[in-house]
Amino acid sequence: MTGQQFQDAAISTVNEIERYYSTLSERSVVPSISPGYLQKLLPSEAPQQGEQWDAIAQDIESKIMPGVTHWQSPKYMAFFPANSTYPSILAEMWSAALTAPAFNWICSPVVTELETVVLDWLAKVLGLPDAFLSTAQGGGVIQGSASEAVVTVMVAARERFVTRQLERENITDPEEAEDRACEIRSKLVALGSEQAHSSTKKAAIIAGTRYRGITASRTDDYALTGQNLRQKLEELTAKGLQPYYLTVSIGTTNTCAVDDFASIAAVAKDYPDIWIHCDAAYAGAALVLPGNRHLAQQMSLVDSFDMNMHKWLLANFDASALFVQSRADLTRALSITPAYLRNQFTDAGLVTDYRDWQIPLGRRFRALKIWFVLRTWGVEGLQAHIRHHVRLGELFAELVRSRSDLFSIFTPPAFALTVITVNARKGRRADLEDAAQNGEDPRPYEESQKVVHPQADEKELEAANKATEAVYKIIDERKEFFLTSTVIGGVFAIRVVSANPLAEEKYVRQVFEELVEAAEKVLTAA
Ligand code: PLP
Repeated sequence: MTGQQFQDAAISTVNEIERYYSTLSERSVVPSISPGYLQKLLPSEAPQQGEQWDAIAQDIESKIMPGVTHWQSPKYMAFFPANSTYPSILAEMWSAALTAPAFNWICSPVVTELETVVLDWLAKVLGLPDAFLSTAQGGGVIQGSASEAVVTVMVAARERFVTRQLERENITDPEEAEDRACEIRSKLVALGSEQAHSSTKKAAIIAGTRYRGITASRTDDYALTGQNLRQKLEELTAKGLQPYYLTVSIGTTNTCAVDDFASIAAVAKDYPDIWIHCDAAYAGAALVLPGNRHLAQQMSLVDSFDMNMHKWLLANFDASALFVQSRADLTRALSITPAYLRNQFTDAGLVTDYRDWQIPLGRRFRALKIWFVLRTWGVEGLQAHIRHHVRLGELFAELVRSRSDLFSIFTPPAFALTVITVNARKGRRADLEDAAQNGEDPRPYEESQKVVHPQADEKELEAANKATEAVYKIIDERKEFFLTSTVIGGVFAIRVVSANPLAEEKYVRQVFEELVEAAEKVLTAA
């Protein structure tokens, strides 16, 4: 492809992308193809001769689009969002153009320096304690994902624990230290609330240590409490095991619960060797709001904090911002410098080499999209973006409450996510009908909130689970909206979160109407 051909192709691609976004709401959010559809559309061998760009470009609509799940559609309300924006796409173009896997500072100094600057900006925008800044002993590094961040800090936690133990035992001989390190590692346990994302358990597999989940509070929207943490720690240490790592969360995947940091901090004081990591993959974006400052300030409790700008803060996948209070904890665990990686700047200790803060060696120029996003929106723009979705979450919950004959709120809107269940046939709906017939007042709203609770009568719970699953299936099969179902404490629930840049009130109202229609159908048939 010549320069001129590139220009022409790029201009038409940009036009196509703009057309895609401006007509996105007309597309079905989930594809209707069957597994293996693409095998049938593509030749079984790569072409022998190169093809013209026009032929390749045509296949986007005919071969690629049928298999796309449209995460950017305003009708996408599943999992968590994965925001995409034009400034971020432009940054990705530049990043691709300047491709330089800048593992060492000298490999492309701006890749490192911009990353340090924008992550300090971001730490301040989020209101994190100053200890997380590069100007203190900490700093930020961009990882590919929140899962990668957990693996990175878990390995650092493991090595910090082992090093401290060897120091306490005064072991300095390298071979003796290695043998003893293996013994210490064999007793280590990583911890997370039962509601912590599965990436913590996966990281423990990768780090080669045990993992134990801690029961979350049933009365506090499934948050982890200090009391349950202490109980688990005492149980493990009584067995001769060594807890060395704990994930706490701002915004769990199921319900967007925030763990109880005050009570956890009181317990953590008694276990200073445990590395605490805060997984704020999705909801961390909401720390841009001044009303959430108290959460950011509580992060002085944790050794590391991670949030995905690529979920809710307008940067395209991938941009997971990991902050640590002590960068030396990362570099001590992950720095290996063979002769071919040495250079005068590294040797002089003048520069940051981010290869020592991550698992891979090479790295992309991801700071550019964070820079473009922070400059395009400014702090006020980011706040308006988050507030818009928080309001949409509240609107959805209000709509759900207006039909308490059909639905119950399992957990109220938190960071734009509302989790609902469909009432059992003989639940609230029957109560309302009985009450109307007897001329009594129906149960007050507060009680209707508890129609489906884990402690509810088992038969009622079973019926509600069946009804909720049936409603979810109807929505899923229609493919007009994409929602996620989950099971929490034995309760089948539907998660609704509308938080991508194209989200609008009219779509929230539409999805609610679909849910009402489906619930009425299911409850009438029951
Ligand atoms: N943590 C939480 C709370 C999540 O909800 C998710 C994914 O949705 C993750 C971690 C994993 O994110 P990633 O895909 O960036 O690894």
